[in-house]
Amino acid sequence: MDAPLQVSRILEHGATVHGTAEVVTWTGGEPRRSTYAEVGRDAARLAHALRAECGVTGDERVATFMWNNTEHLVAYFAVPSMGAVLHTLNIRLFPDQVTYIANHAEDRVVLVDSTLIPLLAKSLGDMTSVRHVVVVGGGDPAPLVAAAGDRIAVHHWDALLAGRPEVYDWPEVDERDAAALCYTSGTTGNPKGVAYSHRSIYLHSLQICMPEGFGLGPTDRELAIVPMFHAMSWGLPFAAFLSGASLVMPDRFLQAAPIAEMIAAERPTLAGAVPTIWTDLLSYLDSHDVDTASLKEVIVGGSACPPSLMHAFDERHGVDVIHAWGMTEMSPLGSVARPPAGATGDEAWRYRYTQGRVPAGVRARIVGPAGEPLPADGTSVGELEVRGPWITERYVGDDAPDPEKFRDGWLRTGDVGTLSADGYITLTDRAKDVIKSGGEWISSVELENALMAHPAVLEACVVGVPDQRWDERPLATVVLREGASATPEELREFLAGSVARWQLPERWAFVEAVPKTSVGKFDKKVVRSRYADGGLN
Ligand code: ADP
Repeated sequence: MDAPLQVSRILEHGATVHGTAEVVTWTGGEPRRSTYAEVGRDAARLAHALRAECGVTGDERVATFMWNNTEHLVAYFAVPSMGAVLHTLNIRLFPDQVTYIANHAEDRVVLVDSTLIPLLAKSLGDMTSVRHVVVVGGGDPAPLVAAAGDRIAVHHWDALLAGRPEVYDWPEVDERDAAALCYTSGTTGNPKGVAYSHRSIYLHSLQICMPEGFGLGPTDRELAIVPMFHAMSWGLPFAAFLSGASLVMPDRFLQAAPIAEMIAAERPTLAGAVPTIWTDLLSYLDSHDVDTASLKEVIVGGSACPPSLMHAFDERHGVDVIHAWGMTEMSPLGSVARPPAGATGDEAWRYRYTQGRVPAGVRARIVGPAGEPLPADGTSVGELEVRGPWITERYVGDDAPDPEKFRDGWLRTGDVGTLSADGYITLTDRAKDVIKSGGEWISSVELENALMAHPAVLEACVVGVPDQRWDERPLATVVLREGASATPEELREFLAGSVARWQLPERWAFVEAVPKTSVGKFDKKVVRSRYADGGLN
């Protein structure tokens, strides 16, 4: 049968077949608990309210400016299911970037957590298409009301949903229609919009649930730390409703201490977040007695996962750190590093260090400087290109694919590395982060991984800085663990054990913290600009 792949089907399945699965939102006090059946009823109520009060009758964009919590989950399902488009705004961007994105997407409605009212108030006045704001949770809406003026109506979630019907006759939509929008965090230039269709979300969610993906089922509990505004929380909310896995949502409590408390109290079996979150958590666990026994796997992606982090979790906590790679443009799943059948011991570890193996939905190739395909032999190095049913073919608003990012129907990832015959991707670096020293390439990631294996080093971020003789040389910024000490000479000596001598940095900076992007990655652009003078002064 030609049954369309729709988000509303994922919602209906989760809310009925898995109606007793649980969503827990952390509050700092007593957690808030509801079931998928209740989420389904609230999704119907929200859809009725958006249609009746906010003029959402077609493919209007409904934005969220929210943490990971139950109401955000309700919006994730209600908005696409009713035929409108969910737009997850990144709360950590500068106000003018948020305004730019909301205007570019032509958002009509913004749902906002009350704890984020002061932040949204900074952008709201300049959002030209917004007509309605819906505040979730208690708190003084006065700053929003002031910023809203006469043009924008301010509602409260509870009042707006009260008394609305608990069922909604979800329309049949074209599976190729947009269901959701997410903007890249814009490390260079203006953020670019990526639209996900109902079909792409459905297919991507199936892959997330597969054993070769995150392997989810009804006995799982997912701790979704990766923000719902960062590449749709890696698809975890949709995959939860498909598989019946319960969800634990951290809301705004993203520091190591509350995350540790959530793990001990809510017993998640799986969690997903960028490496910096796990680095912090690991050092917290080293000095606190926390029960992490429920956790079988943590999915780490967004930037390269240091092997030292994987080994530490394995040895000290019995947790498998599973490395994954992806991009906002890819929904985001690109590959997951599970070893092939038969690999054990060191061989299995070598597979786990890679960025992972591509699933059937992702075709990958490596190309040379002129775009010529190179062999998938595990040694030929070039730019990685991908294509597939959950990968975007162009950015929102562009008439044609931008040639900087797309080539002959392939997405140019901007990542450099190798592809093996059996589908494993190994990335050396992002093209723009590779350090070009005297005509040779140095991988910033390789130096970082090697440095972070030193017991005194908590975090290390390596960038290329200008050098008169060599064009560029590596500069290492290092955060030492509390109470630990190390000199540049010691660290150079340590690196010399695994890195060629000519690659060893001669420039060092010991810092309190590495600057992070809006999604928690090392912000190399900021680090580079700090040391634009070459870092020797
Ligand atoms: P942004 O470009 O703003 O960081 P994305 O989250 O879409 O937003 O970033 C995608 C990029 O993140 C990839 O192209 C790659 O460079 C990097 N990345 C993601 N996962 C990994 C990983 N496991 N190893 C190395 N790099 C990764």
